[in-house]
Amino acid sequence: MTFDVDTGRKPSCPFCDLPEEDWEDCPHLVAVFDRTFLDCYGGEIFDRDGEFRDLVEAAFSKRLKGAESVAFEKADLERLWQQSKYEQASQAGEESYWDLNDRIFQELLIERLLAAGARALPGRCEDSTPLASSVYTILFATFPRIVILKALQLLVEETILSE
Ligand SMILES: [Zn+2]
Repeated sequence: MTFDVDTGRKPSCPFCDLPEEDWEDCPHLVAVFDRTFLDCYGGEIFDRDGEFRDLVEAAFSKRLKGAESVAFEKADLERLWQQSKYEQASQAGEESYWDLNDRIFQELLIERLLAAGARALPGRCEDSTPLASSVYTILFATFPRIVILKALQLLVEETILSE
């Protein structure tokens, strides 16, 4: 159970007012991001954050093979790219293997969902258990599926290589 540390209130959907325990019935939930443990639960994004990851990984793989030195326009994407390039380069001799940096990737994903029209619950949402405290970013939208499509579209445009 999460709560807003500023108001002490439990979060509810800004569109239909369903409380957290009923969010499985809320058609507006886009995603619940655990910023502390870098997880993503519930909402329309459930099982779909992999689509974003695959998209970025494919674009980076293509660049790692080529001699491309063009920077990505978006600063966070460029940061993720530099991090991946560094990781791959530091394993010289080994079969090239790298992972997207989870923290940068999560920030980038949240940023694109917001740019696509998702609305973040205001305030600071945290777990109420003192032992395993997490900070959450919780996103809602009138039409979550459209937001996800738009966010994917944004990322496609940003990652397309200039031929
Ligand atoms: Zn709702």
